[in-house]
Amino acid sequence: MAQQMQFPVSKEGEPKVEGLVLSVMDYEERNGILHLATPDQIYSVYARGILQPTSKNKRLAMPFSRVTLNYDPKYSHNMMYLINGSVDQNYWKVGESLEMQTVSSILAALIESYGIDPELYQDLEAFWSLLQQGNSNLALLHACRVVTGILKKTGTIMDVDECVVCRKKTRIAGVSVENGGFVCLEHFDPQIGDLLFSKDDLLKLRGLVKIKPDQLEVLYSFSWDLPFLVFLLDWLVYHNDHHLKSLDFLKTLLPAKKAALSKEKVAK
Ligand SMILES: [Zn+2]
Repeated sequence: MAQQMQFPVSKEGEPKVEGLVLSVMDYEERNGILHLATPDQIYSVYARGILQPTSKNKRLAMPFSRVTLNYDPKYSHNMMYLINGSVDQNYWKVGESLEMQTVSSILAALIESYGIDPELYQDLEAFWSLLQQGNSNLALLHACRVVTGILKKTGTIMDVDECVVCRKKTRIAGVSVENGGFVCLEHFDPQIGDLLFSKDDLLKLRGLVKIKPDQLEVLYSFSWDLPFLVFLLDWLVYHNDHHLKSLDFLKTLLPAKKAALSKEKVAK
């Protein structure tokens, strides 16, 4: 059943790949396995000795980076064998915020579970890059885009065209997680957990689902925050039956101001 993977090569035909580091797993003490995303595929890269403090390749295992790797294609059919490489961008500021670091690991884990495509690739890097520039508002817009991108992939995207009960397009009041989309005032049912949404939040949600990447500026004027992202992640968890441990952790960070003590406790 094991299909032989086609490894990417540079324009000159050299065994070379550029991509985003999604995660690094320890493997037999000092070795690591990098999961690297290109716009079309996720690859495993075996990195011998990379977790050794003296390893020349150590910096390639940094999270939140875009790297170019030279690999040996003959080592294994399903894993590249790392020779060396360079860090093209390291968005280290992502790691300065526990919340954003957690969001990043959730997004990376989702991409590892559901696969990558060019839009997801762009949105993940935009999330990192905007955090590096100190723009967490727009960074979160791209984080939300990663989640709605995955909802589209899994066929569990919300219906934002009309009330999911009566199909009317007027007096939309909120979102029914249970029924799968917008719901009008008449059919809004808090008993089944329907959520009342502000006009802005309805527009944001519709925009996330409908707007093409080249028209994204339309969404720049809204404010994007963690609770909205958490709503999307909850939707994904509910409709895909996918438990996300880091999401539980992210939620403990949400009322951070009030619960500074418990935050410290959880951080350990
Ligand atoms: Zn209705």
